[in-house]
Amino acid sequence: MVWWCRDTLNDYVNIQLLYPLWLGVTVTGLFIWWLIGCLSRSGNNGKDLDKWQIMFIVPYTIYIAVIIVMIGYSSLFAGVSLVGGAMLGMVLIKRRYAWRVFLLQVFLILLAIVSPYLGIDLPSLRQLTVIYPMLDTPSYLNYNEVMAIENAVAASAFESATLDWDSMSELQLSSTFFWRLTHVFLALPKAVFIVYMFRTLLLILDDSKKEVLLHANQDELTKLKNRRYGLTQMKQVLKSVEDHQDISVILLDLDWFKEVNDNYGHEIGDRVLVEVAQTLLQSLTDETIISRYGGEEFLIVLPDTNHDTAMIIAEQLRLSIAKQTIIVDDNISFNVTASLGLYTLTHDERNCIKQACKTPIQKEASQSLVIPRIIKSYSSKRANRQTPTAQLPHDICQRLICMADKALYEAKGCGRNQVVSANEMLAAENNNIKVLYGT
Ligand code: GH3
Ligand code: MG
Ligand code: MG
Repeated sequence: MVWWCRDTLNDYVNIQLLYPLWLGVTVTGLFIWWLIGCLSRSGNNGKDLDKWQIMFIVPYTIYIAVIIVMIGYSSLFAGVSLVGGAMLGMVLIKRRYAWRVFLLQVFLILLAIVSPYLGIDLPSLRQLTVIYPMLDTPSYLNYNEVMAIENAVAASAFESATLDWDSMSELQLSSTFFWRLTHVFLALPKAVFIVYMFRTLLLILDDSKKEVLLHANQDELTKLKNRRYGLTQMKQVLKSVEDHQDISVILLDLDWFKEVNDNYGHEIGDRVLVEVAQTLLQSLTDETIISRYGGEEFLIVLPDTNHDTAMIIAEQLRLSIAKQTIIVDDNISFNVTASLGLYTLTHDERNCIKQACKTPIQKEASQSLVIPRIIKSYSSKRANRQTPTAQLPHDICQRLICMADKALYEAKGCGRNQVVSANEMLAAENNNIKVLYGT
């Protein structure tokens, strides 16, 4: 409280010390803000962010309220803190919180305004004597006197104008009246208006951001997720999948689709793609990631789905597509079929891959026949590298899709309109090796 002084005459505020104090408060606030950012990022995938934001917003609200009460609700300082704080809050923290806190602050100001009429005297720095830094010799003046001097100087400069105050006290009165009037009746509604408009602007920006994202993530024709977004979501699923869960990937390709285009035209071809996409959406759950991977190729990721279930789902998809009749006109209709390649990454295999990423190849060598090829290739790549935490490799999606693609290729080779499992292919291969080497 060094800025709050007392001498033989009165209490007074040393403005020269008050400024560094506010600066200190602001810098400390920024530091806390930075700290909160770091802490909320490090813990729990940002789930604690709400808690941190509330912890920041409470002292900040108290800070603004103190400024408003101490400096005065009609000060520029209070106005800037109020509007600036709300606008900054809306950009940096949850808009919902910032808006509510702003309304709370407006309510506090209104309370401060009516408090004198209720017989409550709030402390106000504006009524206190200050040592004014602009004057050569520090002299005791309160804020209203400083204002009055400024007004007198202004009035003398505009002698011919309508300003006809004839005494200092009248000037002082007018000044007080002016400040109260501007803030209470003009400035406060203006502050509410500015912050409300700012909030509306942010909402509009949010909407357009959502729209842009939708277009960036969606396939124009089928309205499914596009390849890029499908892969992004697949990566997220692989990251968040729990230890005991399997994950299955299906690559679906329409059979003889070029012929559909050649026989019925590109437009009908497009319609087939849209209808197949609809069938996929209707047949699969919301948790499933369905994306258009290429021209007539669809990538389906089934989180928490084991191999047997995934095979049943794939078979059902194949049947649904085969049953679907595409009507060209009254006389012409046709059916399309699809081939599907499936690969299930079991939780055991996933753990092995993680293990392979962090241990040298020697440790894995003993398990060579049990672990599928996909894992073996990781082991050799990462042979002499140690990673601190067990994580899946960055190209895991491509690897899984590659496995599903091999199965799809097999399905095409075996006559199309069927489901082939890469897991079964690998198991058969391993059996052959075992038979060959007599193990
Ligand atoms: P396969 O059974 O071996 O998959 O034969 P296919 O004819 O389906 O395969 P191919 O890769 O030879 O042909 C795919 C065709 O898909 C070629 C291309 O013209 C068509 N295609 C790709 N994208 C679109 C699209 O957006 N609309 C339409 N109408 N056709 C598309
Ligand atoms: Mg095809
Ligand atoms: Mg294809």
